[in-house]
Amino acid sequence: MSFYDAFKDAINVAQKADNVELYRQLLDLSAQALDLQAEVARLREENAALKKSKDIAEKIIRHEEPIVTIEGDTNNLYYCSHCWDSEQKLIQINCHKDGTFECPHCKTSGNYNNELKRQSDVAQLRAISELNSRSQKRFI
Ligand SMILES: [Zn+2]
Repeated sequence: MSFYDAFKDAINVAQKADNVELYRQLLDLSAQALDLQAEVARLREENAALKKSKDIAEKIIRHEEPIVTIEGDTNNLYYCSHCWDSEQKLIQINCHKDGTFECPHCKTSGNYNNELKRQSDVAQLRAISELNSRSQKRFI
């Protein structure tokens, strides 16, 4: 017999016995019991979310760059370390070809791959240097 059915039966008995005070108290108790049931459901949901967050926290891998990855993630996705540290949210960062990134949530930016960023900077400097030497040759 469920909690609700037990109260319903007790209220019926109080009604048949014509005990108004008992009837009123049982109605109050049943309202409190329903509130408690709702609170238990909310707490179960919160507990499940906390367990899930704890499970993820145990798989977080930190890096020299301000990013985190998840152990065993076959997609090798990068997440914002700031969002994880401050809100325990896994926000996938937007990675650029030059090794930099930006978080779409908190707008943190940086390098997700320092070597790729260094190679990009070197290539950019070479291109600028080449342009400069070409324009100097035109004036000679
Ligand atoms: Zn972020």
